[in-house]
Amino acid sequence: MRKKTRVIRVGNKLIGGANPITIQSMTNTITKDTEATINQIKILENAGCDIIRMAISDNEDARAIKIIKENINIPIIADIQYDYRLALESIKFGVDGLRINPGNIGSLDKVKKIVDACKAKGISIRIGVNSGSIKKDYLEKYSGVNEDSMVESALEQIKLLEELDFRDIKISLKASNVQLSIKSYKKMSEIRNYPLHLGITEAGPGMKGTIKSSVGIGALLAMGIGDTIRVSLTDDPVEEIRVGKEILRSLGLLKGGLELISCPTCGRTKIDLINIVKEAEKKLEDINKNIKVAIMGCPVNGPGEAKEADIGIAGGNGEGLIFSKGKIIKKVKEEDLLNELVKEIEKI
Ligand code: SF4
Repeated sequence: MRKKTRVIRVGNKLIGGANPITIQSMTNTITKDTEATINQIKILENAGCDIIRMAISDNEDARAIKIIKENINIPIIADIQYDYRLALESIKFGVDGLRINPGNIGSLDKVKKIVDACKAKGISIRIGVNSGSIKKDYLEKYSGVNEDSMVESALEQIKLLEELDFRDIKISLKASNVQLSIKSYKKMSEIRNYPLHLGITEAGPGMKGTIKSSVGIGALLAMGIGDTIRVSLTDDPVEEIRVGKEILRSLGLLKGGLELISCPTCGRTKIDLINIVKEAEKKLEDINKNIKVAIMGCPVNGPGEAKEADIGIAGGNGEGLIFSKGKIIKKVKEEDLLNELVKEIEKI
């Protein structure tokens, strides 16, 4: 059961409640280099990114939002660290959401200026607590970095906005420690109903980052916690989207798209299954059909084990069977297997 959270808006995307869980990423271009930034966002959009965040470090970055927005279709969140004027400039140039900690902004008067501008334009704010930036007071009160000091830090930020009667908020409680992240998000989810932005911070590169993110984000989503996700990888942001989509798909939270399943190979495998699957991944990447494709190493277990697949391959000795819903359609030579599979998928 998904935890019921408030619904907030980021541009044309609704976050929280029963709305689909959105996937976010962040550009790593210089924001004011509008050509590079627009190109990267377009690639991310095509990969399935729902919302994009960009670092806004100066006025030129803020002004660039207008041009960038005119060339892309997904909402933009401005990531601002300390300067409230950059938040106001970003709002002026059409940003859809802010990532800012009111506690870093300074006087209440400055926070109020941001809140008033957000209210006027229906813009939401993400408040984010990071395990590396918890206040000394909370570290002392709760004996170090743990879910209590994380949540208390976030509550302080929330209170600042609630006192200004602003509740279009989503919250992140990111730590690079997976257990700490899970405990912190779980605790926050029990005491407040603001939508949660899930992520494991500084997860690292490639496989390591993918596993940490999948375990942390996946465990929370499986408990019904989380409304939007960002996989943080030291890699091309497109990888973050791919991993994010697979996390959602593996939990049945992403509808549509092609799901590829394949066996791990064993002593019965008599075709070059590993390379066939690698090739298939590339060939099927752009096929946007709501189907399950199975690539299995042998006919003994192949069609049977992947009975529910819409279409699949079961390898033989130098040849293979193409099957659909567990029924054999035809026998094909090994070198033609992949092309025949693609042809059959195109017919669906
Ligand atoms: Fe082995 Fe066949 Fe199972 Fe693949 S499907 S792991 S080849 S038994």
